[in-house]
Amino acid sequence: HDAARGEVGVVAERGHDDEAAAHAERHDQRLLLVWVHDPAQDEATAWGFRRMGQHRRRFLAETLQDLNTSLQALGQHLVLLRGRAQEVLPSLARRVNASAIYCEDIAAPEEQAQVQALKQSLTLQAAGVKVRTVWQSSLLEPDALPFAVADMPQVFTSFRQRIENAGLQPQPPLAAPQSLPQSPDLAPLQERAQELHWIENPFKLLQMPEEDAGDAKQRGFKSAALTGGESHGLTHLKNYLTPPWPDRYKQTRNALQGQHTSSHWSPWLATGAVSARTIWAALHGYEQAHGANDGTYWLWFELLWRDNFRFLHLQHGRQLYAARGLSNLPRPKHFPKDFQRWCDGNTGEPIVDAGMRELASTGYTSNRMRQIVASYLVHDLACDWRAGAAWFESQLIDFDIYSNQGNWLYVSGRGTDPRQGRRFNPTKQTQDHDPQGRYRKVWLGGSV
Ligand code: FAD
Repeated sequence: HDAARGEVGVVAERGHDDEAAAHAERHDQRLLLVWVHDPAQDEATAWGFRRMGQHRRRFLAETLQDLNTSLQALGQHLVLLRGRAQEVLPSLARRVNASAIYCEDIAAPEEQAQVQALKQSLTLQAAGVKVRTVWQSSLLEPDALPFAVADMPQVFTSFRQRIENAGLQPQPPLAAPQSLPQSPDLAPLQERAQELHWIENPFKLLQMPEEDAGDAKQRGFKSAALTGGESHGLTHLKNYLTPPWPDRYKQTRNALQGQHTSSHWSPWLATGAVSARTIWAALHGYEQAHGANDGTYWLWFELLWRDNFRFLHLQHGRQLYAARGLSNLPRPKHFPKDFQRWCDGNTGEPIVDAGMRELASTGYTSNRMRQIVASYLVHDLACDWRAGAAWFESQLIDFDIYSNQGNWLYVSGRGTDPRQGRRFNPTKQTQDHDPQGRYRKVWLGGSV
């Protein structure tokens, strides 16, 4: 690499455990840190609603702002661009005379297509700019698994047992860099901010188009209590890893509400603000200090589920996006009016409506509620699981393409569930998880 040339880097949304930043530090180059917001996220999906809803926008904007604050302490700056990556990055790379672009390797079709388009960019090719990807979001390295990803056991229990029997442990997280290479001179870029589609303020970059913001107000949305960004995520991690919360996890994880009934790590994991390896290292530290038990084991168990859905994408790729998924079941039917009632929390089934209203009001709902409402959509209303997955993508502050796709497939019987899908009986779920109606009261008010 030529140290006199600039570098365009798209790194994880954090300072610690970040391969791309560590690479640039090792090579003593100049480094330009970029986040790209694709306008496709502001458009409507095929199912008729905006792809990225307001809660996700807020959480992501907080994440970017927090990252920029940490970067500024290291003399760096986050450049926020609006546009298609394959258009805005080549023109930026040319301006700063970059030698390479780094971005996360995400094994989902859209992200793969974006990287492919970057690699095929004539502008980048003519300038000799390399496009490199870094795999970085799993707890375990795909290459370290005791089987080739192509031969990964389809049933989660076998997957987990093979890993545990091999004694496989995650790598420790990388330390946060103490310094970062300087960025190229930003002043000439700032002068061309409009041409480059550079928007300084993350909240402006991710602003909800007007009509939706008004709509959200009318519907009286509350904001989720969780704040985006690495610093908040690390504080939250520390707070949760305090006795007795992790010790109780296995008993409380199916509760529908409660601050400490589950870890709530997912929004920071999904935005990349805190890595799975950092969480695992902290959990391991907790076990050494306070003892390992069912609760701490079950947190590891769930993080393995998260990895399983990542590796499933490496194994099956596009197939996971087909209407049939991995199954031979007939294509799903779809009933748009029922789907709309489900999104609005107006199905008439109280437990489902409460869950859907919580989701729309906060951008979060518990794992158990996700299972109940997803099952209701695909098994009771006989709607297309992909519409449900798209609604979750729009709403969830912890939206994660791998976990969302994998779980929807699983519930609908088109994924890796050995029982070929499971219907959650709403009456039984209500008796088991909300016998006194406390949860329903919160979200349905007087109508319970
Ligand atoms: P905890 O119960 O405390 O678990 C700890 C961590 O383990 C979680 O943060 C998460 O990273 C991982 N984990 C737990 N359960 C699962 C699971 N079933 N699948 C994968 N990872 C898991 N999770 C997302 O992060 N993003 C999504 O978009 C998403 N969509 C889902 C859609 C459906 C239909 C269902 C049924 C589940 C979905 N999940 C998704 C998984 C799960 O519901 C959430 O990860 C969990 O509720 C987050 O809360 P928590 O952090 O308190 O989890």
